Amino acid sequence: MLLITIDTLRPDALGWIAGANDTPAIDALARESARFRTAVTPVPLTLPAHVSLATGLLPHRHGVRDNGQVLAAGPATLAETLRAGGYATGAFVSGYPLRALFGLDRGFDRYDDVLPGGTEGWMERPAADTTAAALTWLRSVKAPWFAWVHYYDPHDPYTAHEAFPRSGPRAAYDSEVAYVDHAVGALLAALPRGPLVTVLTADHAESFGEHGEWLHGFFVYDTTMIVPLLVRFPGRVPSADREAMVGLIDVAPTIYELLGLPVGRDVDGASLVPALLGDTPPADATRLETLQPWLAFGWSPLRAVRTAQWKLIDAPRPELYDLRRDPEETRNVIDQHEAEAHRLRGELAPVASNRSLGTERVSDPAVQARLEALGYLSTATAAVPPGDLPDPKDRLRERRTLLEAEALLRKGAYDDAVARFDAVLASDPDNRFALLRAGMALLKAGDPKSAAPRLERAVTVAPELAEAHYALADALTRTRRYEAAIAEWQATTRLQPRRVAAWSNLGTVLGLVGRLPDARAALERAVALAPEDPRLLVNLALVERRVGDDAAAAGHLLAAARGLEAGGDRAGAARALADALAAAPELRARAAADPRLAPLLQPLRFP
Ligand SMILES: [Zn+2]
Repeated sequence: MLLITIDTLRPDALGWIAGANDTPAIDALARESARFRTAVTPVPLTLPAHVSLATGLLPHRHGVRDNGQVLAAGPATLAETLRAGGYATGAFVSGYPLRALFGLDRGFDRYDDVLPGGTEGWMERPAADTTAAALTWLRSVKAPWFAWVHYYDPHDPYTAHEAFPRSGPRAAYDSEVAYVDHAVGALLAALPRGPLVTVLTADHAESFGEHGEWLHGFFVYDTTMIVPLLVRFPGRVPSADREAMVGLIDVAPTIYELLGLPVGRDVDGASLVPALLGDTPPADATRLETLQPWLAFGWSPLRAVRTAQWKLIDAPRPELYDLRRDPEETRNVIDQHEAEAHRLRGELAPVASNRSLGTERVSDPAVQARLEALGYLSTATAAVPPGDLPDPKDRLRERRTLLEAEALLRKGAYDDAVARFDAVLASDPDNRFALLRAGMALLKAGDPKSAAPRLERAVTVAPELAEAHYALADALTRTRRYEAAIAEWQATTRLQPRRVAAWSNLGTVLGLVGRLPDARAALERAVALAPEDPRLLVNLALVERRVGDDAAAAGHLLAAARGLEAGGDRAGAARALADALAAAPELRARAAADPRLAPLLQPLRFP
């Protein structure tokens, strides 16, 4: 059983759908498959959409509402069910949001998320390498097997491939799709033909300015929510286009039925096998969502319900589209069809009441930084509050400005970035993203004094936001407002108790104001989290010496000297060793017996 997902794939980038881009391998697969032109993703974000695909559940049921969250134990995944059914299971993913640490590795014998490519926070694997990794595994396993192969290249930034030249405003994107098509062709060509069930689909599509949106994730229009779905399965059923609206949540139940495995009862999707066989199933309503406007910018999240004919978007200013007459979703007809809107709102009610953000996020700042580099900006960690929030469609100009500002910040153009963040703050003064990022840009520009008021506002608007407390603490420390800084470092450690730098900085500032026992306690927390870090050991030892505990200080300095020597800093190591022996000369024998430290003793002269 082969499942291929192509990230960020617009249906009209495929030859068999629009004819504009040449994708011979996928087109050939399409000729042998049941083809769904209206497959709907429940959420336009990589990890949540893939979790829905793997579980048959809507995001509010499986709890992964955003990239960077972790799939909790509970919902059965395709891989778990197939492994229990006797299949060897292997996954070959190509993009950072799907790394094993986010939990989709459950049920796979092999979860290959080696991502060698990319620059500055980017991590991805080119399609050809992913195909090669998958084929290596496939050659080593016995049937039956389940392989999930995920390609990431069409995700931005778009890079044109010389071998696949394309033209027009989407040239680089179309070239990426053509490059993936070639890798899909290599994969399919190397596999034995025969009774292999093959599914090809995507997690979401991509917007190129439709509705004022670029990329994906901000809106729930069909531009980003409709993906292609191909199902090739053994049997004598003629391949053909299927008109039915289907969902990514239907893929897992379909695979189960095709393979003769039990379809879980409690899933939101339904098997498409009747539709594969040519029936037109009764058109069901499906739910869509994106929490990104709230998570990134503090604006209203969007939820929608879609039927074959209608889409109701539950925004502060709600929208209703008649998709049969207006597939581009350009004419909001909610005033003309109040009864329809009311009925659809009823379908949405159980989801609309759900304001939680689902499962835990990975709280590692390095993980967050990588997701930000991919354009997944999340500054909210609290549930969506009741009451009025701005409508995302009324904030398109601000979003554009914020994304420009963010790009400038990443390039190091701090003044220009701050000017843009401040322009947004002029019309949206409590925008926590603009407040936080303007403050961070000013810190990087060496202007902590100007950063502080913006960051003070950020922690007031979003008290749960650890990053804002951290940045404010930094600004206050650098402007020597130590008592206020201590309170912010403490707030950071309460929100992120495993963040070493927060404990370390807290200890340093406590030491500066002479609160030595507190400083020592904070630095001990930092050392407990990172016991090998020589810089922390030296800082702790300094405080220990100030409180007169020379024995403890000497022990930590000795450990620091070992660490510094191992890291190649011989001068630093010699200094730490000298300090250790000054504090406790009796340690000289122990140092002399240590093969790491003995060579450093030679040049040290002691009275
Ligand atoms: Zn994606």
